[in-house]
Amino acid sequence: MELLLSIEDLRVYFYRPEGVLKAVDGLSYRLYKGEVLGIVGESGSGKSVSVLSILRLLPANGRIVSGSIIFDGKDILNLSREELRDLRGKDIGIVFQDPMSSLNPVITIGQQVMEPLLWHNLCSRSEAYERAKEMLGLVGIPLPEERMKEYPFQFSGGMRQRVMIALALICRPKLLIADEPTTSLDVTIQAQIIRLLKRMKEEFGMSVILITHNLALTTNFCDRLIIMYAGNMMETGRTKDILYNPSHPYTKSLLDAVPDIEVDKELIPIPGTIPNLIDPPSGCRFHPRCPNTMDICKEEAPPLFDIDTDHYSACWLYRRA
Ligand code: SF4
Repeated sequence: MELLLSIEDLRVYFYRPEGVLKAVDGLSYRLYKGEVLGIVGESGSGKSVSVLSILRLLPANGRIVSGSIIFDGKDILNLSREELRDLRGKDIGIVFQDPMSSLNPVITIGQQVMEPLLWHNLCSRSEAYERAKEMLGLVGIPLPEERMKEYPFQFSGGMRQRVMIALALICRPKLLIADEPTTSLDVTIQAQIIRLLKRMKEEFGMSVILITHNLALTTNFCDRLIIMYAGNMMETGRTKDILYNPSHPYTKSLLDAVPDIEVDKELIPIPGTIPNLIDPPSGCRFHPRCPNTMDICKEEAPPLFDIDTDHYSACWLYRRA
């Protein structure tokens, strides 16, 4: 498979009055063309920060302090502002959790979906109109031509998220980032949105990164998973291996909170809380919550150990003598 994205040893820190918060601390992974990668973890695990870094869309106090991000042969951390603007929305589309705050309330849906095509000078206004109408139809908006004249408040939550997907895909990006795209929606609509993303991925052949706290959403969609905790990767592998043969105690805790992964269900938080990343636990960051903690866990951060083909776990339980 052809490589699309390569992230090596990424560190993203936030500079706060009370100290430096290490939101992402040494993350490495690869994404191939046409692949769907799920990044899963509780809130505060660093999963969203890690993908916002790909677009260099961090808040003012956030900084990428080291590492590299290579997207489609381009070194993202050395791109100019103009080159970045060109990348956002054209080569990389993004769908956020709350479509209401991403859509402009005083601009019609049609204009908003046409906008990326016009901004990137990809076609004439009349062609943009036709493409927006077609894309809205593809994402399941009935009577797209009429609805293009309407405003976001005239759409339901699920329909607004469909509009956001149309907007993210209108320039036919190579990568779609979906950051908790279903969190604000009810369970039935969540399933519809994941089915739509899957259909769109098959239609356009792009790569997808799905950020979620809900393992159940990854089952029939993601090819591979990364399980994140407190800014570190805990486990990575093919989705079926992670879901049916998990190795890391944190992944097992997440799965224990979802009795039937085929059923769409909100995760029940595991005992304890995500640590304060201004002063994270020594050694393995999961050790204060782990049922298997050993002495070494408190002293040294575990590297990734081989579990099986393309399956790795950052846990001292898998150290070989
Ligand atoms: Fe638990 Fe130790 Fe493995 Fe961390 S390294 S998950 S504390 S057993």
